[in-house]
Amino acid sequence: MTLLELKNLTTYYRILRGYVKAVENVSFSLEKGEKLGLAGESGCGKTTIALSILRILPPGGQIVGGQILYEGIDLTKLDDSTMRERIRWKEISIIFQGAMNALNPVYTIEDQIVEAIQTHEPEVTKNEAKERARKLFELVGIEPSRVVNYPHEFSGGMRQRAMIAMALACNPKLLIADEPGTALDVIVQAQILKLLKTLSEQLGLAMIMITHDLSLISETCEKAAIMYAGRLVENADVYKIFKEPLHPYTQGLIGAFPDIKAPKQRMVSIPGLPPDLLDPPPGCRFHPRCKYAMPICRKKDPELVEVEKGHFVACHLIHPA
Ligand code: SF4
Repeated sequence: MTLLELKNLTTYYRILRGYVKAVENVSFSLEKGEKLGLAGESGCGKTTIALSILRILPPGGQIVGGQILYEGIDLTKLDDSTMRERIRWKEISIIFQGAMNALNPVYTIEDQIVEAIQTHEPEVTKNEAKERARKLFELVGIEPSRVVNYPHEFSGGMRQRAMIAMALACNPKLLIADEPGTALDVIVQAQILKLLKTLSEQLGLAMIMITHDLSLISETCEKAAIMYAGRLVENADVYKIFKEPLHPYTQGLIGAFPDIKAPKQRMVSIPGLPPDLLDPPPGCRFHPRCKYAMPICRKKDPELVEVEKGHFVACHLIHPA
C-alpha cells in the first residue's frame, strides 16, 4: 500500500540573484514499510526533498509545484498547525546530519525526548513520557539509565542512536534519515545502519535514506532513486540500479565505486562539475558531462519513463523523443 507519493515536486530557493531550482518535477513513491535510498552528489536536491516533505524549508525556500501525497493527503495543501500537530513526529520524523548540531546541548536527552512527546501528544503525562524515553533508549541499544545525560556525555555513535530514539518518540510511520552516517567512523556507521534496518523491520517503519554513498543504500534499502542537479534521473530496485543501471549518470556513479574483489584498477570519475542551479543548462541537465549527449539532449528535458515494471529512467538514449 502506498504511503508516500511525490508527484512532480518542484521546490525553489529565492535568493538575491534569482531562483535556485533545487528540485524540479521529482516523482517517486514509497510503500508502507519500504526503504528507499535517495542518492546523488552534494547539492543535487536530496535534503530539499526531505525538507519539502516535512514543510520545514529555510527562509526563501518554497514549494512551487507538484504534490506530496501522504496516505492520500496532499501535504502541500495543509496549514502549518496541521503539519505541526498531525504530521511531523507523529507520522513523519527526520534524523538530521550531525547529531551534535541537532541536539540541544543544555538539556538532557530525557528532557528533549519528553518535550517532543508532550508537544505532540499533550495527553501523555511527564512520567509516562519519561518511561517512554527509557524504553526508546533500550530499543536503540543504549542503557536506559543514560537517558538523563547531556549530549556531550555521549560518543558520536551514541548521540546518533539518541537522535534515532528521539525521532521514534511519537511512533511515526515514515523516518527520513539525512546522511545518518556522516562524521562517524566506518564501524559505528555500520552499527547505525544495522540499527536503522532492524528498527524499520521490527516496527514496520518506512524509511527514506539520504546519502551520497551508494554502498549504504545497497546495504540498507530495497529501492534506490538517483538525483542529478535537482532532477530524478533513475529509480528502481537496488539490484537493478547496481547490476543494470540505464542512465549514464547512474552508470558513472556505479563505475566510480571501487570493487574490493576486482583486480586493482584506476578509479573512473565523471568528468566536469554539476551545474549552477540558478541557471541550469537547458534540456537534460547532465548533457555537459554526458559522453552520449545528442543534439536533442541540449534542447529537450527527458521525461521519467517506466522502462520495465518499477524501473524509471529519464534519458533520451533509453526512450528517444
Ligand atoms: Fe546523456 Fe542525453 Fe541521456 Fe542526458 S538525455 S543522460 S545527455 S544521453
